[in-house]
Amino acid sequence: MVKRRSPRRTRARGGGWTLGALALLGLAVAALRGGSCEPEDLISAIEAEVAAPATKRPAPRRTPTSATSEPSQDPGVHVELGAPVDRDASDDHLMLKPQYALSYHPGRNVANWVSWRIVAADYGPVPRHKGKFITDTTLPAGFYRVRHDDYVDSGYDRGHMTRSEERTRTVADNQATFLLTNILPQQHDLNAGPWGRLEDLCQKLVQAQGRALYVVAGGIFEGKPRTIGAGVAVPDAFFKVVVVLAPGQGAAAVDASTRVIAVIMPNRAGLLAEDWARYRTSVDEIERRTGYDLLPRLRPALQATLEARVDVGPVRVE
Ligand code: MN
Ligand code: MN
Repeated sequence: MVKRRSPRRTRARGGGWTLGALALLGLAVAALRGGSCEPEDLISAIEAEVAAPATKRPAPRRTPTSATSEPSQDPGVHVELGAPVDRDASDDHLMLKPQYALSYHPGRNVANWVSWRIVAADYGPVPRHKGKFITDTTLPAGFYRVRHDDYVDSGYDRGHMTRSEERTRTVADNQATFLLTNILPQQHDLNAGPWGRLEDLCQKLVQAQGRALYVVAGGIFEGKPRTIGAGVAVPDAFFKVVVVLAPGQGAAAVDASTRVIAVIMPNRAGLLAEDWARYRTSVDEIERRTGYDLLPRLRPALQATLEARVDVGPVRVE
């Protein structure tokens, strides 16, 4: 957990469907915490906004855990363990998509974090999208919309957060991973090296071992970042947190024995041959370096236990 002051209220944009999902989440969090006012202020703010409009249509009910056979399409599943929050909500523009959820930083022109679930049903026969990466036209007016060409000749890969292979059920799913809101400037050696090898492990955990994963990833910025293109910020490092559960399980199934893999990998050249596992760290360390409270929907005592731990689980699975 990260201590924080009340974040400034942010104005949620987007469809009522999106807001409904977040409102449900907010209610779930409130219930989980026995109605204390600790639950994420950001979500409460959005909830208040949802309650305000004249149309008082109740949000559709969603079961807290999702069935094994269902692909990760309900945007609520992507923030099942909570939407990370920091002390300044003014640079967190939340976007919930069927394929993943994210917080977008309009000053940096990249996501603060991207959060998504992976289950076996998310893998399918669809080939990798070919052609240019895709400008996200769902960003609010007034936000710069990053273009494929912002990365041309920059020296950086267009680094996926939600990986292309993890969304291959339909063409629409796969294309969504090529939206530039899911992309950060990443050194090729990192992307093709340890970052990619951790992605491979995730795929094996799901496909070979039948796990369900809740993942959150993003950049770490120290000081004023350098930029590429029309102002796309380059992170100094990347973080990823992978919570390993079984299919059908959600936040309620997380306990002190749950495997949580957390890594921080520097965004620099020369790492191509490095093992992913040498970058293991604690969630606490990621929280310290990003200012975000991760896994905020878990009870504080459970967060304290899981977030202090460094994973020692298998580095490879067959
Ligand atoms: Mn936390
Ligand atoms: Mn990649």
